Amino acid sequence: MPNPANKPIIAVDIDDVIYPLVPSLIEYLDTEHKVRLTEEDFLEYDLRKVWSGGPVEAAKIFEHYKESSGVQIAPLEDAQKALHTLSKKYDIIVMTSRDISTFPRTHNWITHHFPDIFKDVQLLGNRSDSQTFRPKAEVCVELGVYCLIDDNLKHAVETYQAGIRVILFGDYPWNQTNELPKGVTRVKDWQGVLKELDG
Ligand SMILES: [Mg+2]
Repeated sequence: MPNPANKPIIAVDIDDVIYPLVPSLIEYLDTEHKVRLTEEDFLEYDLRKVWSGGPVEAAKIFEHYKESSGVQIAPLEDAQKALHTLSKKYDIIVMTSRDISTFPRTHNWITHHFPDIFKDVQLLGNRSDSQTFRPKAEVCVELGVYCLIDDNLKHAVETYQAGIRVILFGDYPWNQTNELPKGVTRVKDWQGVLKELDG
């Protein structure tokens, strides 16, 4: 339900918006498997499609990565400061397509690095890993979200088409397009988000 009595709601994605999934995974693969990938290898945002050993092996490796990753992984640069600033003007929630089973790990990382920032955590699941999932566009409309900040092109375009303001986060190999809708603004980093929303 929209909440006119409160501040406008900003929904913030986790992976590669506040949490450095690809950089930390690259480091993990280097350390544990002696395989050096770069961000440019992630033309698709899925290790199963990037890993030369095939999807089954990639899925196992990714599970081990998840188990090993914890609060030692620092947030993206400026994310904490920027969200602290934005929290004065906006109600900020987390909205991720991570599977519901990741809740303890996700919650732990968020509360460690972003205490008192997020008013809600929405784990929506995703097509490949989850028994159930919900599109971000649908949940943004339902919650009356003012703006979604996300690095995923599909979520960005769908949510924009549902009438929600969208900031496409990052200039990443996996979110390039020649056809970014005019209403979707790409920013390179959290300084860019601040300029868009607080400037
Ligand atoms: Mg993401």
